[in-house]
Amino acid sequence: MQIQLRKIHESANDFSIKKEKVLCHGLFWRSGKNRVQIEGEIEGLLSIDCDRCGEIFEKPIKEKFLVEIVDRPVKVEDSLDVIECPDGIVDFDAICESEIASIQSQYHLCPECDEDEEYEIEL
Ligand SMILES: [Zn+2]
Repeated sequence: MQIQLRKIHESANDFSIKKEKVLCHGLFWRSGKNRVQIEGEIEGLLSIDCDRCGEIFEKPIKEKFLVEIVDRPVKVEDSLDVIECPDGIVDFDAICESEIASIQSQYHLCPECDEDEEYEIEL
């Protein structure tokens, strides 16, 4: 799903994108002349590589995110994630994919390794 930034209204609209077993959904609205905010949530079963044994497993995920899309470089004055789209097109698929990738890049253990780790801490 792609929308031209200048066509996005100040009143919030919703979006919903499905990627395999993960749903990325939320609201987006114009927050300024050259900026749009997206408040979304990633929900579902995500395929993740275990950081210890390398097995791929599915983990139930439910994570919120808030990003700001700008069509020209801006100073970042707060902790919002800012994504630049110089061509003026907001690519929701790419944004959802990058949010999913950032969850996947965090430290994850499969249920088996997770149990081992708790056991080692007790020792
Ligand atoms: Zn593992």
